[in-house]
This record gives sequence, structure tokens and C-alpha cells, in this order.
Amino acid sequence: MRSDKRADDEFRPVKIELNVVKSALGSCYFEMGKTAVIAATYGPQDVKPKHLEKSDRGVLACNYNMLPFSVAGDRKRPGYDRRSVEISKVVRESLEPAIFMEEYPKCIIRVDMQILQADAGTRVVAINAASLALACAGISMRGLVSAVSAGRANGKILVDLTKEEEDAPDAIDVPVAILTKTGEITLLQMDGIASVDEMKKIVKQATVACEKLGLMQAEALKNGIHSI
Ligand code: UDP
Repeated sequence: MRSDKRADDEFRPVKIELNVVKSALGSCYFEMGKTAVIAATYGPQDVKPKHLEKSDRGVLACNYNMLPFSVAGDRKRPGYDRRSVEISKVVRESLEPAIFMEEYPKCIIRVDMQILQADAGTRVVAINAASLALACAGISMRGLVSAVSAGRANGKILVDLTKEEEDAPDAIDVPVAILTKTGEITLLQMDGIASVDEMKKIVKQATVACEKLGLMQAEALKNGIHSI
């Protein structure tokens, strides 16, 4: 039994609120258990600095940041670090295939993600929030991007590991994102060592959970708010 009594293939309770940032074109608050993020979208707008501009397509810029009070225990040192640069990059790569970038030549679309509370899975929760923020901003998309982590802890294959589970001695953490329309995987990372068989099971569990999350995201877009 997991400490929060979830089934092995169950993700944490989700809460979604759309357009929470009045100054942004589109925004989303996304909570999954004790992990919570706000994402806000700006643009399409002129590219600055100009040398980043592409004549035939748009540019997507993603910024992931953890707030100092988001972590348990010690405060996180404010500002960007190697980890936030890496996560900003993988989030951009997860979202870009969902956007019709060719419809935005010479423009930039910006997504800022602030982690309010971190209890593992911040990058996947940031992707879920960013995908909805882009949709709220009316950015032309093939469909939503849904993301969740799966992995192993205490000898079991689990969906949506908490920080406590991630800290187990045998832990493997595999964040996965999919394009909900096609099921194509746009993020696949791995922290830990798994056999090929184990990895197949983990990715399968993650993609099934992503599909469920995708339905909740779509419902939130229809209703403006969603929580379970
Ligand atoms: N974490 C932390 N301080 C940090 C970075 C991470 O306490 O400076 C915690 C936080 O709970 C985070 C977890 O470690 O969610 C796992 O971080 P990881 O780098 O694996 O990314 P994530 O699972 O959040 O996408």
C-alpha cells in the first residue's frame, strides 16, 4: 500500500483552473497532489533578440522556475540553475510538436512556469499546465500535451511517484509526455537503472495515465475548471 493509499497505477488528485493570470493571454493553475504550478503564455509577439527569429516559423520559449518556498525543508536558492535550464529545454521540446509553429513566422510564443509547491513530478505538471495555458491563449495546436511520471519504488511499478517514493533506494523515475491526439511520445527521460522489460511496463503505465489526464485537461478546457 502506498503511503497516500493510492493504487499503483493511480495519479494524485488533480485540480485545474484556467486563466488565473489576468495579465497573460492564457494561463493555468495545475495541481497534482502536493505539486502545484502556474503557467502563463505571452505572444505571439516580435522576437527579441532579433537573431533568434525564423522567417518560416515561430519560436517557442519556455521558462521553468521553482519558487524558493516550493520545496519541503530548506528554501530553494532563488533564480535559475542547471536543473531549471534543463527542464525549460525538455518542456519546450515536449510542447513544440503540438503547436503549428509554421503559422507564426517571425514570432515568439513565451510560456513561463512557476513551481509553487514541489513534491516530485514538477516537470510533468509544468507541461500539463503549459499545454492548457497555450490552448487558453488560442495558440493553434494539433492537440493537448499530457504528462506524468511513472517508475519503480520499493519493488513496485508505480504511476506518479511522490518525493518520498522517488527517494526509495531502488527508485526509477521516468517522466513521459504524449500528444493526446496521436499518442506520440514527446518526453521520455529516465533517472535510475531499469531492465528493458521494466522500462516497457513503466512507459505503458505512464502513457495510459497520460491518456486519462488528457481527458481531464480537455474537460477543463470545456468547463473552465476541473478538480477530482
Ligand atoms: N527538489 C528539491 N529541491 C530542488 C530540486 C528538486 O527539493 O532544488 C525536489 C522536489 O520535490 C522535486 C523533486 O525533488 O519535485 C524531484 O526533482 P526532479 O529533479 O526529479 O524533477 P521533478 O520530478 O520535479 O520533475
